[in-house]
Amino acid sequence: MLLGGIEAGGTKFVCAVGDEKGNIIEKVSFPTRNPEETLNDVKEFFNHHPIEALGVGSFGPIDLNKDSTSYGMILNTPKIKWKNYNLLGSLKKDFDIPIFIDTDVNAACSAEYKYGAGRDVGSCLYITVGTGIGAGLVQDGRIFQGKNHSEMGHIFVRQHPDDPFEGGCPYHRNCLEGLASGPAIEARYGTKGALLVDNENVWEMEAYYLAQAIMNYTVTLYPERIIVGGGVLKQEGLYPLIRRHLVEMMNGYIDVGEVDKFIVAPELGDAQGVRGAMSLVVL
Ligand code: ADP
Ligand code: ZN
Repeated sequence: MLLGGIEAGGTKFVCAVGDEKGNIIEKVSFPTRNPEETLNDVKEFFNHHPIEALGVGSFGPIDLNKDSTSYGMILNTPKIKWKNYNLLGSLKKDFDIPIFIDTDVNAACSAEYKYGAGRDVGSCLYITVGTGIGAGLVQDGRIFQGKNHSEMGHIFVRQHPDDPFEGGCPYHRNCLEGLASGPAIEARYGTKGALLVDNENVWEMEAYYLAQAIMNYTVTLYPERIIVGGGVLKQEGLYPLIRRHLVEMMNGYIDVGEVDKFIVAPELGDAQGVRGAMSLVVL
């Protein structure tokens, strides 16, 4: 069966066709412009391929409540032209095949669960730490969803004793995303994270926040594995620091097994997004 996948991002769209095993046969990428122009490029690509089903991993917020009249619509985004755009509706008009849509984070989680760092476990949580912070949970081939998609990046964490930063979340100020996203690091130090490689305090504090998040997700959900990715985790030295903090915070309360196997990096690299979109069809 030939499957299609769309990684619908705020800056670029990636479209691919591939098989049920997640192999990509052909892939294209183009910049995100207004919805009409962008979707024209999408449709042009898939018109050349006889796909039988399509998966979409989209930037958000997006309405994923199947009972809602705005199901599949982009909601209140700062990208004005995309606000209230019916992404799923537009695709359905042109493609009379099953279409599966989810958030970009859930699609990434699905990809890692099916083909990557979570392929040997029954449940895994994927956290992305980039421009924002988000997380998704897959258990036994199902992506967790309540009434709508979750926003696990906006949990509250304890402020580090040496952190004077007020936090950058426009809604909650010093929630996890407000304190530990890429832009939060940049706002705190006045320099991009990538240029702070040698400043140990930066990463110690970052790990303190991310470990608290992992602590909270572990005690509430107890997944078998936690995969941490996103631009900020290009700072690979964070992994051992996060693990050390988690072990200290957990204090033996929940047995997470070998911590090196519990908290891991993603394995799928650049194709994670579009493979994740395709994987929504076969998860
Ligand atoms: P997005 O979240 O927009 O999809 P990314 O996951 O690539 O994009 O994350 C972008 C963020 O990651 C930016 O805030 C950037 O400053 C940060 N970032 C990129 N590389 C590094 C690095 N080597 N160390 C720390 N932060 C980084
Ligand atoms: Zn917040």
